[in-house]
Parts: sequence; C-alpha cells; structure tokens
Amino acid sequence: MDCLFCKIAAGEIPSAKVYEDEKVYAFRDIEPQAPVHILIIPKVHIKSANEINDENCAIVGHIFSVAAKIAAQEGIAEDGYRIVNNCGEGGGQTVGHLHFHMLGGRALAWPPG
Ligand code: AMP
Ligand code: ZN
Repeated sequence: MDCLFCKIAAGEIPSAKVYEDEKVYAFRDIEPQAPVHILIIPKVHIKSANEINDENCAIVGHIFSVAAKIAAQEGIAEDGYRIVNNCGEGGGQTVGHLHFHMLGGRALAWPPG
C-alpha cells in the first residue's frame, strides 16, 4: 500500500522516532507548529477517524496511554498540551493514515483555526 505513514512506521522512510511498541509509532512532525509537535500513529493502516469501529477502537485508548508517557518524557505533562486529530479534507487531514498530533511547549490558543 502506498501510504507515507505506513512506510514511516515500517522504517522504510526515515523519521525522528520518539516512541515505538508493537502497535504504535510516534515521531516528530517534519513541520513543527509548536516546540513539541509529535505524531502518534497506529502501525495498522486506518485511513481516518471515520474508520474507527468496535473492532479496532482499542488502539485509540492505547494511543492515549502512550501519549501520556510521551508528554512526561518531553516535559510537557505539567504545563499541558493538546492532542488533535484532523479528519478528512474539511478537517485539515492531509495524510490518509490515522494520526494524533501532540502539540506543546507553548501556550495554545482556542479555538484552533
Ligand atoms: P494532517 O494535516 O493532520 O494530515 O497532518 C499531517 C502532518 O504530517 C503534518 O503536520 C505534516 O507536517 C506531517 N508530515 C508530513 N510528512 C511528514 C514526514 N515525512 N515526517 C514527519 N511528518 C510529516
Ligand atoms: Zn497507512
């Protein structure tokens, strides 16, 4: 399958890895929008949040438990951070493999643009 993030998770395309286990891969965004900007992805190909269902939804809980570990590692747990998923073109999704942005290290405005 011709998927950028599948290739990154498989190590076929280089990335700045911050965490990996059998189910999840996390790496630094190539165009960081904050001092800490990490993408957390499932290794299994899920196109978007629209494709989360009763069979595959456990990965989302796992991703959030991994996110809490990464936040502690990155030193942003106490100050706070944002986890964002962009779904579909209208939601700003540009890569068709489910991913969660972790943004931190600066004050984040709300609502996002
Ligand atoms: P989204 O717009 O929510 O689909 O987010 C896709 C994100 O992937 C963007 O923030 C991009 O900067 C990031 N991105 C695209 N290609 C790469 C890459 N090769 N390595 C790391 N991050 C990437
Ligand atoms: Zn993929």
